[in-house]
Amino acid sequence: MPSDGKKEPQENLKEKLRAFFGAQPPQKGGSGLPPRAHFSIWYFLMVLFLFSYMQQYYLSRKVETISYSQFKQYVAEGSLSDLTISPDTITGTLRGKDKKPDEEFITVRVDDPGLVTDLDAHKVGYSGHYESKFLSSVLSWVIPMGIFFLIWRFAMKKMGPGMGVMSFGKSKAKVFAESETKVSFADVAGIDEAKEELQEVVEFLSTPGKFQRLGGRIPKGVLLVGPPGTGKTLLSRAVAGEAKVPFFSISGSEFVEMFVGVGAARVRDLFAQATIQAPCIIFIDELDALGKARGANVMGGHDEQEQTLNQLLVEMDGFETNKGVIIMAATNRPEVLDPALLRPGRFDRQVVVDRPDINGREAILKIHSRNVLLAPDVDLREIAGRTPGFVGADLANIINEAALLAARKDKETVAAVDFDEAIDRVVGGLQKKGRMMNPLEKEIVAFHESGHAIVAESVEHADPVHKISVIPRGTAALGYTQQQPTEDRYLMTRSELLDRLAVLLGGRVAEELVFGEISTGAQNDLQRATDIARSMVTEYGMSDRLGLVTYQRARQSALLPAVFAPGKDYSEEKAGQIDEEVARFVEEAHQRVQQILSDHRTVLDELAALLSQKEMVTGSELRKMMGNAK
Ligand code: ADP
Ligand code: MG
Ligand code: ZN
Repeated sequence: MPSDGKKEPQENLKEKLRAFFGAQPPQKGGSGLPPRAHFSIWYFLMVLFLFSYMQQYYLSRKVETISYSQFKQYVAEGSLSDLTISPDTITGTLRGKDKKPDEEFITVRVDDPGLVTDLDAHKVGYSGHYESKFLSSVLSWVIPMGIFFLIWRFAMKKMGPGMGVMSFGKSKAKVFAESETKVSFADVAGIDEAKEELQEVVEFLSTPGKFQRLGGRIPKGVLLVGPPGTGKTLLSRAVAGEAKVPFFSISGSEFVEMFVGVGAARVRDLFAQATIQAPCIIFIDELDALGKARGANVMGGHDEQEQTLNQLLVEMDGFETNKGVIIMAATNRPEVLDPALLRPGRFDRQVVVDRPDINGREAILKIHSRNVLLAPDVDLREIAGRTPGFVGADLANIINEAALLAARKDKETVAAVDFDEAIDRVVGGLQKKGRMMNPLEKEIVAFHESGHAIVAESVEHADPVHKISVIPRGTAALGYTQQQPTEDRYLMTRSELLDRLAVLLGGRVAEELVFGEISTGAQNDLQRATDIARSMVTEYGMSDRLGLVTYQRARQSALLPAVFAPGKDYSEEKAGQIDEEVARFVEEAHQRVQQILSDHRTVLDELAALLSQKEMVTGSELRKMMGNAK
């Protein structure tokens, strides 16, 4: 490196840099970009630019390379000065002749013992220079590392907080201060039963002393169960809003991270934060993403999800409810949850958030049209009547679609025609997803459920009907008939089982009778009926023909392939007889049900018509109808 003549070009460089940045100033937050991002990008570009500029400068600087013999000649001529003698090279200034400017030169040193004597003789100033390898080697390390550091910092900033390596285990739970949870029970409609049950939780949170006075223990966990879009998330926020307590919400799917241990750390952190803020609510949305039954994984092994779930169980056991922390969770698939989560002391309260009936739908429509200018011809009751099976989210969607359609047509208010179009749109989407029934399907379902209900009321040993509904639930059941057991049962007699078989067949027989045709809707009923008949024959020894012998079934195991499952312990001949007996039980029940329903044909028609209109009929209403018809 030249130790001389270095000042001048550096001054030059600074000036050039200044000129460059003057022309293109890297102003902080100059454009529309946020200032921080703007700054860091510029920071990075500047460093890059500096490097390339310096490199170019050094490359393009005018350094004359001369041969050693030429160098000796210049020494003799006395036209050199300020020599720097390094182990390998000699550099210095070559005085320009004929008014030409001075030049830097470099020459490769050869072994020349007489060099110093020569220089002394011609009075050329010189100095030695030891080229330290240290600096250059350090630089060759530090510079790339510095660049990597800058890139890393830049990337971290882009990813945002919570995603970096440094924030492992930091909870992402968002703390909603009381004022932020502006949702109240008034914003939730159509799910009054769930609301009533949660009213109690609100009281626990706002006046905990009242309940502990007599030594009672406040529940720890409340699990909201219901189809998507019925308002589970909304309801839990409303509880926090009503009780005026902080609301920690986190989604089960957020726990599913790629690094083992992160989820567990997050759960720990969440509970630690909540304990400080008590009384408060911890809300875990989509609990099924995190709380799937352990061991369902055939490959085995402790995976991340299992660790997280274990941590959740530990935390739930560990804290005292007296502190006023209530854990709420929501799921639409309670059947996949780990049973340990549902044990007393954990999510011991379950609140069903069901699809709204026609009154509920009207109330939800009212809530969501509060801020919408409705034309006088809009009848929300009528819209509610046309949207069976819709959940709160669907109804909110209809109102929004209608408002958008009206706005597109530059209308002043949202009219009935806009709602028609909006419903058609939403229904189209839902039909594609298989969640909507057309009118014929609805009629079939109404007769099917009426059949179940009438048979249940007619046979001697069936539980009384509680309610009959044609509001679709889930993907399998299009309607349901709910029977209320009058007492707990541990034993069932033969005639009770036969009656149960009859009730199960009621739906299908009603379809046969009315439409002369059968649908696929009865498939689940038939399966259950066959199961009962088979159990009667093979397990309970209730078949006269086969007698008091049990026949072990070839059990299917979910975990083991069929090869490993225990086989049948009876002959093929017996198997044939069993099948015949099962078929006979079912066929006898079939004939019996046909008789019952033919006798009650008028009630069947009336009940189905009432169901189509009201969607829900109570057991007492049915009994009144049957009393009239008898
Ligand atoms: P879930 O959590 O059960 O899937 P959400 O609570 O997320 O359903 O509901 C989505 C949206 O649908 C809510 O923000 C609300 O606007 C609307 N909604 C759903 N159910 C209701 C309801 N019962 N009353 C009023 N609005 C509802
Ligand atoms: Mg939700
Ligand atoms: Zn059925």
